[in-house]
Formats: sequence, structure tokens, C-alpha cells
Amino acid sequence: MVKDKEVLIVELTPKCNLKCEFCYNIWTESDNDNSIRELTFDEWKETITKILSVSNFRCITFIGGEPLLSPHLEKLIDFCKLNYPEMLIGISSNMTLLNEGRLKNLVKCGLNYVECGLWTDNPSLYHKITKQNLLTQALENLCVVRLNIELMSLAITCSKLNFHEISDLIDLGFIAGVDQLSINPFISTSGRGKVNEKQFILNEEELSELLRHLADKAEKWQRSITITAPLPKTKQLKHSKLKYGVCVCGTKKWVLSYDGTMRFCEHSDVNIGNALTDSISTIFEKGKELRVESGCITSHKMFK
Ligand code: SF4
Repeated sequence: MVKDKEVLIVELTPKCNLKCEFCYNIWTESDNDNSIRELTFDEWKETITKILSVSNFRCITFIGGEPLLSPHLEKLIDFCKLNYPEMLIGISSNMTLLNEGRLKNLVKCGLNYVECGLWTDNPSLYHKITKQNLLTQALENLCVVRLNIELMSLAITCSKLNFHEISDLIDLGFIAGVDQLSINPFISTSGRGKVNEKQFILNEEELSELLRHLADKAEKWQRSITITAPLPKTKQLKHSKLKYGVCVCGTKKWVLSYDGTMRFCEHSDVNIGNALTDSISTIFEKGKELRVESGCITSHKMFK
């Protein structure tokens, strides 16, 4: 959806109402901790203005945790749309806290796209993964999103637990009318996902089977399916309808976190500096160097 555009990922809050066992968020051990200090609305405006004054971001995506838990979401979308009218503004949500009224208001503020995270349409597996019984809300909100937003994508994290069901989920996404369907193979770099890696990580055979399922589905629907993670070239299945992501961390994509710290990748716990107090140009320079030194930190962490 924001392909090839420079995107600023804003991790608005570490809080989330789900407890996904595969979650990569680096702070998952301490989420929902009330002692965590999140930026105030004025500090968000200050950091975003500072970053956008020295960069060329075309898209801004508010994520979390769950961005709908932030009291600043609507005001920040409004602020960005007013001051950067050309900016494409989106959220990435687990869709369990949405309702039509809130979505309509977000659109009124300037929201352009919603990336919907969904991992299964099977209630018991949903509970096993997320520790919550909120599948019905998530599924109902697929339709709510489709009816109220210009651009909608479905992002499916695919792991050992759900890859056999992926075909049904893809059908569901295309029937719901998503504009883009993305598959994120589970990546064991950080957070609860790293701790629970064994339950989730695909082996090479399973990854190949997954790609074959995806190619079949893309052919059946005559729609493209994007595998967002930068799979090694040797693993990429040649198929005109399968698209493969490349790593743009530290070049076209940067991450601003809930406390003002910046990283070059959501999966990295390396703090490059604080956007409130440090020079943004220095943060970008330092981040680029670190990214070159480390290489892509995800590409070999998605299968065993
Ligand atoms: S994966 Fe997303 S929805 Fe699940 S716990 Fe982490 S932030 Fe929340």
C-alpha cells in the first residue's frame, strides 16, 4: 500500500489489548505497564515536525501496540493532514477496538488507509495465539473498514500454527475486497515471538509449502499477493503474481517510538537517538551506518 514510498512508522503506544504469542514488539514484556511514559500530544507534534522538516516521508503509519488505544491518534492524524496535506496517513490495527463511528471520525480527521492484522478465522486458534476471544469483532470490522476507507490492506502473519489455514484466510480477504494482501512470515527477532520461537517458526519445507499455497491463490484470484519480509533470493518462488518485499529499513523506512526514541527497523531494539532531544540528521546518519553494519536483521530469522 505504501510501496516504494518513504514511510515513517510511529509506534504510538506500547499498549495492546491482545497478547499475541508471536508478537515481535521489543517492549512486550513490559506493555500495559502504567509507569511507561508516552509522549504528550505537544511532544508528538514537536517530534513529528522536527523529523518531517529534514526528511522526505510520503507516508506516516501509526502502529503500536494497538494505535487505537492512544488518546492522541485522532488529534495527530488531524495535525498531520492539516500541516502535510499530501501525506498518506494510515494505521495498522488488530481491528478489535474499532467501530463504525470511530472509523468515520478517523477518516474525517484525514485517515487514508487501514492495514488490518488478522491471523486466522478459527476461533480456538485465534484464542490460542492472542489469548483473547475477539475474533468476531475483528471479522465484523473487516466489513466496517471496507465500507468506510479508501485503501485497505490485510496483513497476515504466517507461522507454523496457521500456515495450513492460509488459503481460507486469503479467500476471506479477497471476498472482503481488500486492496492489498500481505503475508508476513513469522520473524523471530524480538519480543514474545523470540521467546516462543519454537511454536511459530516455519521450517524450510513449510515455507516452501506456504509459498506454493500463495502462488495457487494468487493464480486463482488473479490478484497479487505480497510477501513483505525480505526472503533470501534462493527461497523466492518464481511466480508473476507473488511479490517479494525488500528491506528498506534505514533508507526509506524509519521508526519513531512512543517515548521519542528512533530505530531503523521495528524488529531492532537498537536505539539510535531521541527525536525530542537529538538532531534528526545525526540520528539518520547514525542509523544508516548501523543498518549497513548489521545488514537486514530479519532476512534469516523467518525459517529454520
Ligand atoms: S502482534 Fe500486534 S495485536 Fe498482537 S499483541 Fe503484538 S501489537 Fe498487539
